[in-house]
Amino acid sequence: MTSTAITGIGELVSCDGTGADRLGRRQDAAVVATDGVISWIGPTLAAPAADRRVDLEGRTVLPGFVDSHSHLIFAGDRSAEFEARMTGTPYDGGGIATTVDATRAADDETLRALLAGRMAELRAQGTTTVEIKSGYGLSIDDETRALRLAREVSPETTFLGAHVVPPEWRDRRGDYVDLVAGEMLAAAAPYARWVDVFCEPGSPYAFDGDEARTVLEAGRAAGLELRVHGNQLGPGPGVQLAVELGAASVDHCTHLSDADVDALAAAADSTVATLLPGVEFCTRSPYPDAARLLAAGVSLALATDCNPGTCYSSSMPFVIALAVREMGLTPAQALYAATAGSARSLRRSDIGRIVVGGRADLAVIDAPSHLHLAYRPGVPLASALEVQPALAPDPGRSAEVGPAGHRIR
Ligand SMILES: [Zn+2]
Repeated sequence: MTSTAITGIGELVSCDGTGADRLGRRQDAAVVATDGVISWIGPTLAAPAADRRVDLEGRTVLPGFVDSHSHLIFAGDRSAEFEARMTGTPYDGGGIATTVDATRAADDETLRALLAGRMAELRAQGTTTVEIKSGYGLSIDDETRALRLAREVSPETTFLGAHVVPPEWRDRRGDYVDLVAGEMLAAAAPYARWVDVFCEPGSPYAFDGDEARTVLEAGRAAGLELRVHGNQLGPGPGVQLAVELGAASVDHCTHLSDADVDALAAAADSTVATLLPGVEFCTRSPYPDAARLLAAGVSLALATDCNPGTCYSSSMPFVIALAVREMGLTPAQALYAATAGSARSLRRSDIGRIVVGGRADLAVIDAPSHLHLAYRPGVPLASALEVQPALAPDPGRSAEVGPAGHRIR
């Protein structure tokens, strides 16, 4: 057993509080982690002995961010598409199909290296859990490969063969839905925890309510749990379908009817509405009405949707700043949605909160309070706290770290 005492925490935010903001803040705190699990929380002065100690000298500690919606496994570059969108220039670079071509053409080692780089980028910004979707393979072998590689870095993998109807199937979309719900699902399911579908009626490349239901019900029969991309581009059946089928999360939720909001509120114990404001920011689109959802009692999560087309940002602090500035959430509401709320959308109780018995997945903010996440947008204050020693301890060296070192090695 290896224990680490993290002391000198200026503000500890557990996201497990009983107050109105649920943040559970305390000052001058310490946390002890034993073999990656939190074993003690209390005042710094009462911290028990441990194998290693790190003094954070007044910094803030939060649960590591939970990014419950990402498309991290892909190859290729679509920055020209972004430039065209921002400059109002007509552009048809192929959209998702461009990424599908590049991803299919990349070998395993290339995809692994790209994914590793993105995972390091996430951790450097305080994210300790990330959900990763397939959806740029769109063939049996390519979807299965994407999930197999994603599974190497995260247990939260999602089969998204129903991301778009690939060009070669446009004239036979019913056959593509049968493939996704049949042979492709059977091959992918061993590497996935979740199944997801891009449900937007009226789109030539997305899936309508009946098609989405076919895929989701087949996924459930194969033992996967459900997530839905719904109501992003316009009104549609995504939210109602997600609630009816007991999906853990319905994501985007930009265009909602009153009945959709009522359904989400009634299902608040089982279905979370995950908002992805980075997408609206990067596509200059109207944001979802977060205040309306909170007022109705809907369970909210925040995630990045990190993907090469509509939001190539892996930054949860950026998402929190957007949620506060652009969607009117309080800093406390945004932080809660990015940690405990997002964990709930993954049906995980061991992450997203700092509690004894929970995973010691922690983020440190180089600032005296959590408010600085939204107050100082774009400033790299957050990082994941490494509480497990990466190497065997060196008896000739102190395990303490200096003021600049967050890492305990
Ligand atoms: Zn997405």
